[in-house]
Amino acid sequence: MEIPEGRKWIYKRFDRNKHLIKEFREGVYEFLQYVISQEKFQEQGEMLRCPCIKCSCKVFKYVDQVGWDLYQKGFMPNYYWWTNHGEELPQSPPMYVSNLCYGTCEQR
Ligand SMILES: [Zn+2]
Repeated sequence: MEIPEGRKWIYKRFDRNKHLIKEFREGVYEFLQYVISQEKFQEQGEMLRCPCIKCSCKVFKYVDQVGWDLYQKGFMPNYYWWTNHGEELPQSPPMYVSNLCYGTCEQR
């Protein structure tokens, strides 16, 4: 799957000196803000599924615990789209398909 431009920070946790990268910390903050804004978050008693490698969205935790997990362990694999947190997968833009039609359409 293609990596969305705005989500490349997800698997860039540390710089060469093993320090947490600023974009990662901001990204985690953005992620948590996104989840908090969901109605589901209130319904779940202000807890959310933790998307870290260990919990794999199967464990519910409080916001600060999730932030801590993500700093410590990182996101689970291929979690570019936060589909377990109310985000929908983007549809592939239909114009790309029609742009590929240079007289080879009959092959379909
Ligand atoms: Zn976790």
